[in-house]
Amino acid sequence: MSVVSIREHRSAPSPRGVCRAQEGAISIRGVGKIYDPEGVHVVALEDCSLEIAAGEFVAIVGPSGCGKSTLLNIIAGFDHLTSGEILLDGRPLATTHTRPTPGPDRVVVFQHGALFPWKTVLENVTYGPVVQGTMSPAEARDRAREMLGRVGLSGIEDSYPGQLSSGMQRRVEIIRALINNPKVLLLDEPFRAMDTVTKGASHQYLLELYDATGKTVFFITHDLEEAIFLADKVMVMTTRPGHIKQTLTVTLPRPRRYAMQASPEFMAMKAELVEAVHEEAVKAFEAGEREMA
Ligand code: ADP
Repeated sequence: MSVVSIREHRSAPSPRGVCRAQEGAISIRGVGKIYDPEGVHVVALEDCSLEIAAGEFVAIVGPSGCGKSTLLNIIAGFDHLTSGEILLDGRPLATTHTRPTPGPDRVVVFQHGALFPWKTVLENVTYGPVVQGTMSPAEARDRAREMLGRVGLSGIEDSYPGQLSSGMQRRVEIIRALINNPKVLLLDEPFRAMDTVTKGASHQYLLELYDATGKTVFFITHDLEEAIFLADKVMVMTTRPGHIKQTLTVTLPRPRRYAMQASPEFMAMKAELVEAVHEEAVKAFEAGEREMA
């Protein structure tokens, strides 16, 4: 998909200069999730509420085990909630009566990746739109080549995932998600295992794609600097049972530049988040969840 065709799905510029999609608003209202209610009864989420505007980039941080992935899985349709409701663009997505199914409107990219290892990069990226019948194979190939070129991946179309670095694999996955023109991109610590240089490059590519598409992004991370650098809002979750403890509105303008991470403004936001997350990590530790944020 060319940048021009990506931009066809965007709306007018937001106050800070980035065009945002008009679809993909998520309302999470009083959501609870209990795993195995009749058995071990793990209360993962309790009265968790947050609002994500269409085209907003939201990062979720919090101690390990606080329920971040649980929330993402419910939005993605991989799991059901126990109480509350989630709306997508004002329509019920997940309620106690409705279990959403995974769909091309909410695409997930995980830390460990999920490319088909037996398919080439081009076959991986074009698979979705061709199978769904939204593009002809030729059209999908043209768009895939354009999008791959945009993230520095021209020339690797015929490679297999196993021949690529983890940074390249993640870029291919994000392109594979975006070619389906989803309403929401759900990212579960996609850059966690990367070295600093690869992570920095991955941030730039993701930001470039975000600026071009304005898609709603729900991004889970343990990395507070990453959260601030990428997101419009960083939401801190409490230790389990998880709900939103604090929301930080990121005041950095877009497009984001790497050097912004050294600004006093950035440092002040980081200090605020460190404080909030540390407090929850200590509680999690005391409660026996030994892995810290
Ligand atoms: P996070 O993503 O913040 O690390 P998770 O959403 O993965 O946290 O998990 C939240 C809590 O729910 C943790 O205590 C975890 O052990 C528990 N949990 C996750 N999945 C299951 C499951 N299938 N059965 C029972 N407990 C689970």
